[in-house]
Amino acid sequence: MSPGRRWLTIGRPWSSAAEVRGAQAARAKKSLGQNFLVDANLQRKIVEALGASPDDEVLEIGPGRGALTRHLVGRVGRLTLVEIDDALAAALRERFDGRPDVRIVQADVLDVDLPSILTKPENTRVIGNIPYNITTPIIFKLLERPRPLDIVLMVQAEVADRITASVGTKSYGALSVGVRSVARVERLFKVGRGAFRPVPRVESAVLRITPIRPEPLDPTEEERVRRVVRASFEWRRKQLRKILRDHPALNIKADRVNEVLNQQGLSGQARPETLEPERFVALANALL
Ligand code: SAM
Repeated sequence: MSPGRRWLTIGRPWSSAAEVRGAQAARAKKSLGQNFLVDANLQRKIVEALGASPDDEVLEIGPGRGALTRHLVGRVGRLTLVEIDDALAAALRERFDGRPDVRIVQADVLDVDLPSILTKPENTRVIGNIPYNITTPIIFKLLERPRPLDIVLMVQAEVADRITASVGTKSYGALSVGVRSVARVERLFKVGRGAFRPVPRVESAVLRITPIRPEPLDPTEEERVRRVVRASFEWRRKQLRKILRDHPALNIKADRVNEVLNQQGLSGQARPETLEPERFVALANALL
């Protein structure tokens, strides 16, 4: 690059490539979890994992500087981008100006009524390299009804571990059961810290979450499961009989607890982390 061209690009003819990268990194907003994916092979691999076609409507959460977006535009039917950062949203708007297939929504994804910005929410495919500080609320929001067709997300490896954890392990908990009682989850691949700028402190992993169809639970059943699961893992060191009887969110009569535990073939001394998601579903629906 000629010095003049460099000046036009970054305004400082003497900057080295490393300085430019540093300046870009410095501008990233930590509070918004801005670690941009700069490895082009990984960008492609994540988009390929979604496997969206020109017939598909896609929602991307946190498009940032367009690392995934650039591989989606023109290859999917309709693309909706939700980005909280006004400068990044403005840059995306400018970049994709005049494209009727791309819509940019500048907002906090947690505040957006997603069905209202999508044509067919239940047929939408979701993708995102999402901010680490709000991974769990985003996943639960995406699993609200009407649920999308599928979701490919880059999350921190520790959250991927918790969601996919085997029963009986330390990582198995409310997040594992909450997600897996309504969706199938696959851990696709790991992404090292070096693939991002600025470099994050933690490793990442890509997950595919596919909501189960037809819906396995009705909304009332889902609410029951949520209550029992939340209470159980709040008291995860206690035994099941005690949790069901004494946790203030449940408070079920002792006789009823004993009856249901017998009927379900469950030991009152079992700890919550030994119950598969399906066991929680059956237990909650028998109890409440
Ligand atoms: N997709 C880009 C990439 O892979 O390089 C950016 C990923 S960066 C980890 C997360 C992105 O989510 C940032 O662009 C950030 O501004 C955006 N973001 C953070 N909080 C958000 C929120 N509540 N709603 C929507 N976008 C958010």
